[in-house]
Amino acid sequence: MKTWRKLCSAVLVLLIFGLILFTGGCRGSENPSAPGSTGDLIKIYTTFYPLYDFTKKIVGDRAMVENLQPVGVEPHDYEPSPRQVASIYTGKLFIFLGEPMDTWAKKIEGQLQEKGVVTLEAGQGLIENNDPHIWLDPLLARELARRIYEAVVAIDGDNKGYYEKNFHELEQKFASLDRQYREALAGVTGKDIVTSHAAFGYLARRYGLNQIPISGLSPQQEPSAQQMVELITLCRSKGIKYIFFETLASPKLAETLAREAGAGTLVLNPIGGLTREEMEAGKDYFSIMAENLAALKKALE
Ligand SMILES: [Zn+2]
Repeated sequence: MKTWRKLCSAVLVLLIFGLILFTGGCRGSENPSAPGSTGDLIKIYTTFYPLYDFTKKIVGDRAMVENLQPVGVEPHDYEPSPRQVASIYTGKLFIFLGEPMDTWAKKIEGQLQEKGVVTLEAGQGLIENNDPHIWLDPLLARELARRIYEAVVAIDGDNKGYYEKNFHELEQKFASLDRQYREALAGVTGKDIVTSHAAFGYLARRYGLNQIPISGLSPQQEPSAQQMVELITLCRSKGIKYIFFETLASPKLAETLAREAGAGTLVLNPIGGLTREEMEAGKDYFSIMAENLAALKKALE
């Protein structure tokens, strides 16, 4: 009886495998003459959310953009599966930010280029002091988008006019976001923002704020007990009203600090990735940046 059951499940597994291989094989041979195309559409891979969002806004429906980072996954410690890595080779363009964010991407860049995949290290020369969070400064984010736009035009010149129009609209949005931040934050009394991890350094510098991070450049770099005690003292002495936490990392430390320092908590989203709920609510970089500004105003008023 047991042997029968084993045999049955073995056959079932084989059948499922066969089906996967069969459908995979069919998909692969769909358009053998044009790698990186799905039908007529060019395929672009991005490593994590902000790059995906900007690329999508530039290419619209003229290319397929696939984000490798799954929804709801914090980007700092994310690495793709071997199967995902294999899929990048089927694309025409691969966009990553650069170290210390998607370190794995740099390692396969050379091999991808050898196989004819165009690559873009979008953050090259923009990332300072090992801090990858350039997309949170609207003007650096605009530069990222400009580089993406140029890379897209280089692989698909036929649609240049369409991409150009989209990029110009996007440029306006960054400019208006920058204006809103500048105006709103010029009038606030407080300057210190206590953030969950050190994601807002570029934003703080752009708008004259002072970031006090609980964790380091990634949420995994947690403070020691001694550092927590110092943070509590610092928050009390500065009269901090709100401690910021994030949607994709644990709020525990922020909550502890808030409780001990007699402060409230608010979300300040580093937009490294979206949660399923944020995705379903139709949020994007710009709507979250607007929410972030509202939270900053509330905390600093
Ligand atoms: Zn981060």
